[in-house]
Amino acid sequence: MLLLAEFFTWIFAIAILVCWVLPSGTTALPIPRTPPKAKRRCAFKAYRLTLSTFLVIEVNDIYSEHPYIYVKRVPEANTILVTDTGCGGASNDRKVDITSLREFIETVGVEDNGGRPLNEGGSMRYVVVLTHCHYDHIRVEDFARDSPILQSSYSPSFVSHANLPEHSLCADLGIRTPLFKPTLVPHLDPIHSATGAPLGVRLLHTPGHTPDEIALWDEQEQMLYVGDTLYEWEPIIFPGAGNIRTWLASVDALIAFVMQSKSPQTALINSGHRTAVRPALEVLQTAKSFMMDVLLGKEGPRNRTRRRGEVYVEYAQDGGRYSLRCPERLVKEARDPV
Ligand SMILES: [Zn+2]
Repeated sequence: MLLLAEFFTWIFAIAILVCWVLPSGTTALPIPRTPPKAKRRCAFKAYRLTLSTFLVIEVNDIYSEHPYIYVKRVPEANTILVTDTGCGGASNDRKVDITSLREFIETVGVEDNGGRPLNEGGSMRYVVVLTHCHYDHIRVEDFARDSPILQSSYSPSFVSHANLPEHSLCADLGIRTPLFKPTLVPHLDPIHSATGAPLGVRLLHTPGHTPDEIALWDEQEQMLYVGDTLYEWEPIIFPGAGNIRTWLASVDALIAFVMQSKSPQTALINSGHRTAVRPALEVLQTAKSFMMDVLLGKEGPRNRTRRRGEVYVEYAQDGGRYSLRCPERLVKEARDPV
């Protein structure tokens, strides 16, 4: 049996032990943290190309087009220049949260932009340019309510409200044609903000792939944007309204245009698919060579299919850098002597 003094000694010892152990045990427990805000899943990803310009890719669209969209920030004009607007965020990812390009630009932080959205809170206004009217580049609904939508003035009937469902290929795909009232821009005109401030970009008519195809030239950054006129590693697809001879003339005009720039060898080219920040002259010249090889019979047809009431033929370089899919009629027309 413990004496009273021994009992108090034991109690004192246990109290010291508890005070000694408990604080260290407590600090070893993980500190409860507020769980990080759930990252929203987006139909788009953005990457910086230059000081002013970002590439936005619609990454997992149901059409497998993966269109390239270019977003140029021009704070001095309080304007964002958007070149093409993709196919509307229709994603294979059913859990995607952000399907609107405008919402992406205004609310989603971009790592290459210091974690901030490209146009945070929509503080800057927009000018939208469509490189051509195909369905995978023209979902402009979110912008058309308050922003100018620019297209080529080369063939107003081609982009008219009456013809857009057919020429955009929306009718063929059974999807809704976007409704918007474009401003048609003449060849070589500079692009301005909605309030008339210059954006440092010039619009060039480059018909061939389609009659309304355009290119943009950013003089300061020596960047050429050519839409679907050409790109690498995927078939360049001409619709029935395309014209290969006209395409060749446009590519020649682009080569001449780059040659007269202040630094032709460092100019870069950016397309509507797959090709971005590549050497402009080299890409233009090699794409033209491939097309000439097709017309001269040096490249043989690899495949024929029937679509939209026509026989489509496919040509492809060994290695696959350039390939072409178009109505066979276009190749025959381009080969025929004038
Ligand atoms: Zn396209």
